[in-house]
Amino acid sequence: VLEKGMPERSVVTTCAYCGVGCNFKAEVKGDEVIRMMPYKDGKSNHGHSCVKGRFAYGYATHSDRILSPMLREKITDPWREVTWEEALAHTAKEFRRIQHQYGRGSIGGITSSRCTDEETYLVQKLVRQGFGNNNVDTCARVCHSPTGYGLNTTLGTSAGTQDFDSVEETDVMLLIGANPTDAHPVFASRMKKRLREGARIIVIDPRRTDLVRSPHIEAAYHLPIKPGTNVAILTGLAHVIVTEKLYDEAYIRSYCEWDAFEDWAEFVSDPRYSPEETAKVCGVDAETIRQAARLYAAGGNGAIFYGLGVTEHSQGSTAVMGLANLAMATGNIGRNGVGVNPLRGQNNVQGSCDMGSFPHEFPGYRHVATDSVRKIYEDLWGVALDKEPGLRIPNMLDAAVDGTFRGIYIQGEDILQSDPDTTHVAAGLAAMECVVVHDLFLNETARYAHVFLPGSTFLEKDGTFINAERRINLVHKVIEPKARYADWEATQELARALGLDWNYTHPSEIMDEIAATTPTFSGVTFDLLEREGSVQWPCNEKAPLGTPVMHINGIVRGKGNFVRTEYVATDEKVGPRFPLLLTTGRILSQYNVGAQTRRTGNVAWHAEDMLEIHPHDAEDRGIRNGDWVRLSSRSNETTLRALVTDRVAPGVVYTTFHHPETQANVVTTDYTDWATSCPEFKVTAVQIAPSNGP
Ligand code: SF4
Repeated sequence: VLEKGMPERSVVTTCAYCGVGCNFKAEVKGDEVIRMMPYKDGKSNHGHSCVKGRFAYGYATHSDRILSPMLREKITDPWREVTWEEALAHTAKEFRRIQHQYGRGSIGGITSSRCTDEETYLVQKLVRQGFGNNNVDTCARVCHSPTGYGLNTTLGTSAGTQDFDSVEETDVMLLIGANPTDAHPVFASRMKKRLREGARIIVIDPRRTDLVRSPHIEAAYHLPIKPGTNVAILTGLAHVIVTEKLYDEAYIRSYCEWDAFEDWAEFVSDPRYSPEETAKVCGVDAETIRQAARLYAAGGNGAIFYGLGVTEHSQGSTAVMGLANLAMATGNIGRNGVGVNPLRGQNNVQGSCDMGSFPHEFPGYRHVATDSVRKIYEDLWGVALDKEPGLRIPNMLDAAVDGTFRGIYIQGEDILQSDPDTTHVAAGLAAMECVVVHDLFLNETARYAHVFLPGSTFLEKDGTFINAERRINLVHKVIEPKARYADWEATQELARALGLDWNYTHPSEIMDEIAATTPTFSGVTFDLLEREGSVQWPCNEKAPLGTPVMHINGIVRGKGNFVRTEYVATDEKVGPRFPLLLTTGRILSQYNVGAQTRRTGNVAWHAEDMLEIHPHDAEDRGIRNGDWVRLSSRSNETTLRALVTDRVAPGVVYTTFHHPETQANVVTTDYTDWATSCPEFKVTAVQIAPSNGP
């Protein structure tokens, strides 16, 4: 600030990194943001922030940004700068040609969890109204789609059940497959504060994270399970709760389907789920399983927090249902301090799912086959809508390779880097005749694009993001769009080029349409959000100021549904050639594939991805701290530096996935969650060997 001078004005907005949803005051001089100050009235951060939100906004003005639309006939041609009008007219002409030639279902769109709710809503509307199909999907496909399936099936809605504030009334935290210290730092601080006040924590994670042991924090129990055994450990915990009669019968009889509970209780009571048998599968101590189950069930208010270490598995949806089963069985749902809480990785994963960007659901998680729901949109949009679910991202790519899918509009997502099986993604993209990438930078996916539309950062738009506690936060335009249009405006221009009569003048009008058509949002207006700062959905006539805690006085589904969670080992097996299991995560200073964080001025943040190796495994292979190692799997290999540490157990290696140069995801498999096709990023059989470097 000293260098840049004093700010001339400030604008309150919302961080565009993780799902905590911190509010900031952006201080501006001219058209440049010179400082981001944590906003003391922010309801999810109360004046706190982490380094990313506070300092990593320089990407907005980075010279890599593409500010002009570009076209090329073939992906081997050089790019040619064109006007917006030419780019949009070309795209519309190509999309219509493709549909004429290959059929209505031959094109589709992908929305982003980085964009606002209003932008996501418009992309799914463009696909449904303009393309005439349901081929819309979101990058949540590769992270929290199992949360959608699992929580919907058991509780009747897909969202975290409690608010961040109520962690202050939690006595026992069950943290599984998440590392909030690095991935959700501001909420992690609140968890730690509560732990210092006397709450206890059970950590289920193959790795010894900070919440297992760090200054002033010592977990009550750490279960360092073998990667891929979440369902087994959750069923093992349930076995103890049921066989020791630690469940809350009064709660279950009042709020859950008793028959389903009895069926589930019989299933989990089977001796093959005893702590001793579970211990053999998961590689942890039987007595610790028993003690952890007793603590969660009987230790007071129990709250579950989980992350991608639960969802990105071949049984991701099953594990989410296993968590809901535990919460319902112990009555740990529907009041302050308890619940089941997915910690969302990206700023607007919750919102992108809420806004109907799945191929089978309209906004508000309503199936496209439901006539009464389809009629709402048909009446409003003036077209007949398809009642068949559309293609998911992996199915779009399969269909492209098969020759039936030929055009795609991708807003704010780099599927070549973030989706599994890079070779297959590349083959699918290469087979298409019109790939439109709408983004800030020429990302990896843009190598296969025919049209590039410049995107806008969160600083250049109005709208809303929804955080992990269902909080609808306002995003305020801080500076004018650097490439003429905010993303919602660009999508609107594309819709108009396709002949649709869209006339939104501000995102508040898009939210009005969302509210008019989506019961859980029916009370939301920008005026309300300005007045209240933010509200949590459901926000409607029953809850005009929103709903901090869900499932009070009854579960949204009607009665809670217990589901059998049979453990099925992943097909990804260790063996003589690949004897170690790789799992992955994040570090505090980086974000996803680093497209934003690596484009900030602070070079100290540009730490490389390291491969954590247990000292025994390192010694066996002659690997020392800092050495280059070759990491190979059945599908591919990459090279990283070794970090020898007992944070990981023998037989497990761990790395982050922030750098395109190391591309940890190139070694992962193409196994996916059985229900949602979410990739199994968290378990890969690998071998490591000394290397001379990349
Ligand atoms: Fe942004 Fe998340 Fe950090 Fe808050 S905790 S400042 S939302 S990255």
